[in-house]
Amino acid sequence: MAASISLKEQSYWVTPHPITTSYKNKTIPTQTDVLIIGSGYTGMTAALTLRKAGVHVTVLDQGQIGSEGSAKNGGMVLTGLSRGMSSVFKKYGAEMARDLFAESLASIDKVESLIQEGDIDCHFERCGHMYVAFKPSHCDYLKHEQEFLVKHLNHKTRLITRENLQEEIGSDFYHGGLVDPLSAGVHPAKYIAGLVRMADEAGVELHEDVKAEKIEKTYGNFKVKTSRGTIIADRVAVCTNGYTSGLTPWQQRRVVPMESYMIATEELPPDLIRKLIPNNRMIFDSKRLLYYFRLSPDRKRVLLGGRPEFYFKSPLEKAYNLQKGLYKVFPELAKYALEYAWYGKVGFTANFFPIIGRRNGIDYAMGFCGHGVAMATYFGCKLADSILGKGLNTRFGQVRSLPIPLYQGNPWFVPVILKIYKYIDKYQ
Ligand SMILES: Cc1cc2nc3c(=O)[nH]c(=O)nc-3n(C[C@H](O)[C@H](O)[C@H](O)COP(=O)(O)OP(=O)(O)OC[C@H]3O[C@@H](n4cnc5c(N)ncnc54)[C@H](O)[C@@H]3O)c2cc1C
Repeated sequence: MAASISLKEQSYWVTPHPITTSYKNKTIPTQTDVLIIGSGYTGMTAALTLRKAGVHVTVLDQGQIGSEGSAKNGGMVLTGLSRGMSSVFKKYGAEMARDLFAESLASIDKVESLIQEGDIDCHFERCGHMYVAFKPSHCDYLKHEQEFLVKHLNHKTRLITRENLQEEIGSDFYHGGLVDPLSAGVHPAKYIAGLVRMADEAGVELHEDVKAEKIEKTYGNFKVKTSRGTIIADRVAVCTNGYTSGLTPWQQRRVVPMESYMIATEELPPDLIRKLIPNNRMIFDSKRLLYYFRLSPDRKRVLLGGRPEFYFKSPLEKAYNLQKGLYKVFPELAKYALEYAWYGKVGFTANFFPIIGRRNGIDYAMGFCGHGVAMATYFGCKLADSILGKGLNTRFGQVRSLPIPLYQGNPWFVPVILKIYKYIDKYQ
């Protein structure tokens, strides 16, 4: 361990920031064909698709372009949805489950093809993911899911018993695993930086530090008041995910923000790295307050993320709490320092499906429930196709989106839910 390493409260992914162009203080247009609010994967892929079709597109972000969820996440590009496919099958039927799962696979292909198209250097690799069982009883669920996936969705995964777990992870903390080789890993900030570059080169107008404050529907178009003036737009697309606010109350009631924290260790010895995560999998566990972890793309550090156990503590205390989790999973890391800690907001929906569609003329796509690297990319493209008049060509658009009970913009119940989850993880 290097004694000189001190913890930086900043994201490992943006040190240095891969977006070097400034989009600040540019004159904002008074008129545009499509105004996109939010510059993450959803906003940028929507903008790029629209621009390629010859549309004048303006993207606004209240912060730095491409620097929130899409630059801060775990970079896990995952198959499936954020709820188990067998439960989707049970509730929505075989055909719907098959279509939604197929779209989840298509979303990874979309990420891969955009990376190829833009020649984005972002360490995309189909390294597979592993879902690990936190309790012995969770192994039954893994087995059930594996049998379900192959029988009903023709999708092969590999069950790993506790005895064989060391082939995949140098830890005794878990009881079994399910490996899906089709998932991928990516450097999330380099990926969004590549999309921003592609959009910029294609002629999308990008403006940072400009907040959309009010959307008014007028005759045939929209008047959007921003912190830097008013823009008239034929169409407005809201791509604000975990940062969705009272600007769009209908969407706000459906997408609740949850903080997700991540930490990165200092550089570790290569032998230790090879032992901890030998096959470079993207790993997440079956706890309610889950841990997700991976190696950095250069395979020098371990990065671990999770939801905070204690809602009201400071970001630094939450980071040190996650560090305790890291040591439980990998006790050998206790003598190494943490070098980075950061957090961002994830958007959750009531039924754990992302939402996409048009409401009062406003197009939207959000609520990716921590599964948005692939899905936000895909939804951005689908949203653009819909704006271009090609129809909303996704089965997700047919799932009824429900408001979150008692939620009007103040997520007062989140600390309660976290406490309940903590209890379930400990005692059930
Ligand atoms: C710590 C963390 C780890 C995660 N790990 C993973 C993972 O491993 N795999 C995975 O698939 N997903 C993961 N996610 C989720 C994933 O990052 C998101 O689903 C995805 O980035 C969503 O992209 P987006 O474009 O919809 O939203 P964002 O990238 O969050 O962009 C929304 C943008 O809207 C802007 N905005 C909001 N309101 C306004 C306004 N009024 N005016 C102007 N701009 C506005 C915000 O500033 C923000 O930049 C993680 C998220 C976090 C925070």
